Amino acid sequence: MLQQVLRKLETAFLDMKRKGMGFPRFKSKYRMRSFVFPQMLKNCIQGNSIKLPQLGVVEFIKSREIPNGFAVKQARIVRKASGYFVIISLECDVNVPEPVATGYPIGIDLGLDQFLATSEGKLIKRPKFLAVEHRKLKLLQRRLKNKKKGSNNRHKLNRKIARLHQRVTDTRKDWHFKLAHEVVKDAGMIFVEDIDFRVWAKGMFCKHTLDAGFGQFVAILAWVCWKRGVYFEKVNKDFTSQVCPNCDTHTGKKELNNRVHTCPECGYTTHRDVAASQVIRNRGLSAEGRSVDIKEIACGDGLAGTGNSLVKNPRSRKKKA
Ligand SMILES: [Zn+2]
Repeated sequence: MLQQVLRKLETAFLDMKRKGMGFPRFKSKYRMRSFVFPQMLKNCIQGNSIKLPQLGVVEFIKSREIPNGFAVKQARIVRKASGYFVIISLECDVNVPEPVATGYPIGIDLGLDQFLATSEGKLIKRPKFLAVEHRKLKLLQRRLKNKKKGSNNRHKLNRKIARLHQRVTDTRKDWHFKLAHEVVKDAGMIFVEDIDFRVWAKGMFCKHTLDAGFGQFVAILAWVCWKRGVYFEKVNKDFTSQVCPNCDTHTGKKELNNRVHTCPECGYTTHRDVAASQVIRNRGLSAEGRSVDIKEIACGDGLAGTGNSLVKNPRSRKKKA
């Protein structure tokens, strides 16, 4: 454990040759956020205290009990703005089967106008996590220039800013988890677009994209699915907003302010994000080698405002396998 910094430096030097990276830069003490204890003793956790090698017995707040049959393998100490945390890795000798692709399918479309749209017609608005604290943050950051570098006051102010940032992060993460559980609750299969959100984050709405945290949400969604035994799959993202989910016709590109999908072929009308999520669901189903059986999924589509229900249309039954 004590060799950790040396090991990091060693990889930095190796990466210089291996990956053609530059000479390792000096890193201030604030850069070191976490370190790991690769081995832990048996029974290192007694009540509310944990025995860490070199450090000895440290008291901590136990957020949850160690489940029966699990052994503590590693412990990582993480420093956040709100305090020090210990992340404990557990090991248990069981096989967890991967969820299989069965059950009720739901497609999910992510976007900036509506954070999320499901093929069931559920629309979730995007909460502006940063916007609430943005004013406060600006104020504090402006004050930073008056503080002398390396001074105690500057350090205190920086901690204040960090705490504010952390609050935004925590709020966002909590919301992501709750939303993921809400969405996965009734599903057997979940399909999302395979998007690299890092590209989005470089685009026009980079601040908003980063504030929404799509990448984190997809990761959390996958984890929640696994935890609940729900099948999770990413599907091809191309043209999801340009295809009619009802009859598979290419309807052409929609303007950004056009929020409604209306198909010129079959007349199917719904919210554009809902249409996209239905396309995603259909793609997921056919990728799993299952036909898109309208009867199986029709009930969710009879929503207010959708006008034509799917069942009325006989053309929609054929779908590529
Ligand atoms: Zn159509």
